[in-house]
Amino acid sequence: MIGSRRYLLEMERSLVLIKPDAVRKNLIGEVIKRFEEDGLRVISLKMLWFSRKEVQMFYKEHEDKPFYDALSNYMSSGPIVALVLGGENVIKRTRELIGATDPSAADKGTIRADFGESITVNSVHGSANRESADTEISFMFSQIEIMDFNSGIYRR
Ligand code: UDP
Ligand code: MG
Repeated sequence: MIGSRRYLLEMERSLVLIKPDAVRKNLIGEVIKRFEEDGLRVISLKMLWFSRKEVQMFYKEHEDKPFYDALSNYMSSGPIVALVLGGENVIKRTRELIGATDPSAADKGTIRADFGESITVNSVHGSANRESADTEISFMFSQIEIMDFNSGIYRR
C-alpha cells in the first residue's frame, strides 16, 4: 500500500498543447490517440483561445528570440486544446512522440513529422522538463481540474 502510493505520487505529469494548426486540421482525436496508445493517461483537458498576451506569458522564456512575434501570432490564431498527461517518464515519452521542433528534421512517424507545417507551425507542444511542466500546468489549469492518479479510475 505504502509502496504503491509512493509510486503514484511520483508519477510524472506533462502539459501538452494541441496547437491551432492541428485543431484547424481536425486532428484533436488523432493527437490524443497517439498518447493514449502509448499508455499515457489524460488527467485533464480543455479547449481555449489564447490572446497574444497569454501566448507571450506562456512562452516568456522565448521573449528575446527572433521568432517570438511569429510564435505569438500563430499561437493566438485559433483555438487550442490543452491536456495534462500523466505516466511514467511522461515528459520524455511525450516529446519523443511529438518529435523535433522542426517538422522537416523530426523522426518519421512523430506527430510533427506527420502533421507539422514549419518550425513555427508545428502542431503540438510538450513540456521540456519537470520544472517547466509544473509552471505550465499551473498556468493552464487549477488544481481541482486535474485528476488524481490515486483514484481507482486509472487502475487497469
Ligand atoms: N519556434 C519557432 N522558431 C524556432 C524555434 C521555435 O517558431 O526557431 C516555435 C515553435 O512553435 C516551437 C516554439 O517556438 O514549438 C517553442 O520553441 P522551443 O525551442 O521551446 O521548441 P519545442 O520545445 O516546442 O520543441
Ligand atoms: Mg520548448
